[in-house]
Amino acid sequence: MSVDTVSLTGWGRTAPTTALRFRPGSYEEAAATVRGCGPRGSIARGLGRAHGDSAQNAGGSVLDMTALDRVLAFDAGTGEVVCEAGVSLHRLLEVLLPLGWFLPVTPGSRYITVGGAIGSDIHGDNHRAAGSFSRHVVRFELLTADGGIRTVRAGTPLFDATTGGMGLTGVILSATLRFHPVATSLMSVDTERAADLDDLMTRLAMGGDRRRYASARVDLTSRGRATGRGVLTLGEHAPLDALPAHARRTPLAYRPAQLPSAHSLVPVLVPGGLLGRASAAALAELRHRRAPRSRTGELRRISAFFHPLDGPRRPSVQGRGGLVHYEFAVGHGQEETLHRIVRQLSQRRGAPFPGVLRRFGAGDPGWLSFPVPGWSLSLDLPAALPGLARFLDGLDEEVAAAGGRACLTNDSRIRPDVLTAMYPRLGDFRSLRAELDPDGAFRSDLSRRLSL
Ligand SMILES: Cc1cc2nc3c(=O)[nH]c(=O)nc-3n(C[C@H](O)[C@H](O)[C@H](O)COP(=O)(O)OP(=O)(O)OC[C@H]3O[C@@H](n4cnc5c(N)ncnc54)[C@H](O)[C@@H]3O)c2cc1C
Repeated sequence: MSVDTVSLTGWGRTAPTTALRFRPGSYEEAAATVRGCGPRGSIARGLGRAHGDSAQNAGGSVLDMTALDRVLAFDAGTGEVVCEAGVSLHRLLEVLLPLGWFLPVTPGSRYITVGGAIGSDIHGDNHRAAGSFSRHVVRFELLTADGGIRTVRAGTPLFDATTGGMGLTGVILSATLRFHPVATSLMSVDTERAADLDDLMTRLAMGGDRRRYASARVDLTSRGRATGRGVLTLGEHAPLDALPAHARRTPLAYRPAQLPSAHSLVPVLVPGGLLGRASAAALAELRHRRAPRSRTGELRRISAFFHPLDGPRRPSVQGRGGLVHYEFAVGHGQEETLHRIVRQLSQRRGAPFPGVLRRFGAGDPGWLSFPVPGWSLSLDLPAALPGLARFLDGLDEEVAAAGGRACLTNDSRIRPDVLTAMYPRLGDFRSLRAELDPDGAFRSDLSRRLSL
């Protein structure tokens, strides 16, 4: 097993810390690492796509799980797959899409691991139809603090504490997932431009009734009557008869295009990564005008539809301090809070990239799962923006007062008292941890910061 001392960050590159990184190649090596981890404990890490500090452990051990990446079994009748936790969603697509099976839920990046998807209980553009990732997990094998391995089934307290539990109940070694059947590997996509936030929310609500996948890009630089304008994208897996003749010969081919990410346009304009406010607004104007007013049935590859940010890496966009990814959700009836926050963001013109607006369906069973039935908005802000910490603290308070919550997988800065108000099952989570892991074998920068 390889071991080295490394400085680690989340995808946002804020808050680097140093840890001893182990890369176990077997379950026995993973168990030995946890048993021998010492007083600073250990935490599992996948592909490091969480924006915050949840997969870091200053002065302790980090288990890089990416060597445990085998697909162990697949049932072509039911779409059930058994795989190791370090396998990426990209690899699963390579194996299963040509057989007619797609991920039940995918986030905006396919370069995440199954362990990370369960640990953060990720959500996608189909939350209304499908819920979050863990709804499609039948069971997993969990390495716990005592060095033992338990089979954890859906519907049990340990399952609900682990899905969204940010790696703090143990190390997921393997999982059984249920995939979604598809006839082709292309998406049929509708696009609509919306004039302001109300218009966008109405279209998103209606579009989400019609299509499996729905999300919107919100221009966070526009002001006045155009505040919150944006572009709605709706998608369905294309049926075979929607494909042109040449594509029908290999309807399930997986050809991920390496797209330049939307963000990668920016460094050209902004040396150092901090986009000036006027340039950000000009770029947003350009993006908005370029989007079609209304277009239906456009065929897109899966990678272009779901994973446009999986382009070249973005450190040059982020500037020296990195990017803070802020994501919050508020329930139905709290639309005014969303409006107020979008207005504040627009006033500051600090968000150089569009935000992503989604409409969530029913909440998920995970005790620390993020989605609440209602609306979510996620956005990137340069960490070097003056006054950012105080500004985001203010947003957290508004979100908490509205009964909403911020997303833990993106977090590296929230105040512990606000978090307690956001997650009503936090007490249960802490009690289960105290019982399962009394000596604190599992710890992370996130858990220390928030007393999880
Ligand atoms: C471009 C981009 C778009 C994204 N879009 C979305 C989105 O649409 N929706 C969404 O929900 N998220 C989104 N994310 C966040 C990302 O999906 C999650 O942070 C995911 O958890 C990252 O997985 P990872 O394998 O990189 O895990 P890491 O970032 O390495 O770890 C994340 C957490 O999972 C835990 N973990 C990892 N492996 C294991 C394991 N084997 N056992 C137990 N715990 C484990 C870690 O301890 C940590 O707490 C996006 C991220 C990026 C970079």
